Amino acid sequence: MTLRAPLPLRSVLFDMDNTLYDHRYALRHAVAELRRADPRLSPFSLAEIARRDEDILQEVHRGMVLAGTVSVDEGRAIRLQRLYSGLGLRVTEDEAQNLALVRRQAYLEHQRAVPGASALLRALRSQGLWIGIVSNHVAREQERKLRSLRLRDLVDALIVSGEVGVNKPDPRIFRVALSHAGVPPGSAVMVGDSWEDDVLGARAAGIRAVWFHRGGGPARRAEGVSELRSFRPRHQALATILGPGRKTG
Ligand SMILES: [Mg+2]
Repeated sequence: MTLRAPLPLRSVLFDMDNTLYDHRYALRHAVAELRRADPRLSPFSLAEIARRDEDILQEVHRGMVLAGTVSVDEGRAIRLQRLYSGLGLRVTEDEAQNLALVRRQAYLEHQRAVPGASALLRALRSQGLWIGIVSNHVAREQERKLRSLRLRDLVDALIVSGEVGVNKPDPRIFRVALSHAGVPPGSAVMVGDSWEDDVLGARAAGIRAVWFHRGGGPARRAEGVSELRSFRPRHQALATILGPGRKTG
C-alpha cells in the first residue's frame, strides 16, 4: 500500500473570541467595573460574578442573539437582568440598560489580542498562507474587534454565522470558508478554543484542527487534532499549526 502525501497547507482558519481576540480578559474588566459601579454587587466575589456572567453570555448569545430573536444590544440588557436576578437582586429596565452601558464601556476599554496572536498571523502570512476567521457572531461586531486590535489587514476574510446562516459546528460554515480560500479541506487547518464548535466542526468538514486549549484543564484527543496552549513561543505555535514538514521561519 502506498501512503499518500498530505496536501500542502494553503489556508489557516481561526476562531475569533478567546482564540485571536481576548474576550475573557475584556469581560473580566467589564464585570469588575460593574461591581465597582453598583455597591449591591460588593457581597459577591468578582470570580463568582464573572463565572455567572460567562454562563449567561453563552446562553443568551447562542440561544437568542445567534438565533436572531434579539439584537446584540437587547442581548446585553437581557444578560444584565439575568445576572442580577441570579444573584437575587432586582433591577428596573432603565437600571439594567444603564448598567449594561457601564459594563459595555469597560469592555470596550479593554480590547486586546490574545498574547502572541498578532505576531503569529504575520508569520503565517509571510509564508503566503490565506487567513480566514470563522466565527459564530454578527459581522459588525467581529469587524469592529479586528479593527480595534489592528488585525484587519492580517486577515483575508471574515466568515460569520450571522451572514452564512448556520453556526459552527455545522460543517457548512467551514465549507463556505474553504470556498472563500479556494482550497480543499486537506489544505486547511482550523485553530480554535471550542472543542465542540471549532475542533469537531472542522473535523466534520474534513479539516485538520488545532485545539487552542489556553485555559488548561483535562486533555482531549481525536484523530487529526493537535493541541496548543499558547501562541508563545511563536516557533512552537507555528510548528503545531503548520503541521509536519513545514518550515517554521
Ligand atoms: Mg472561541
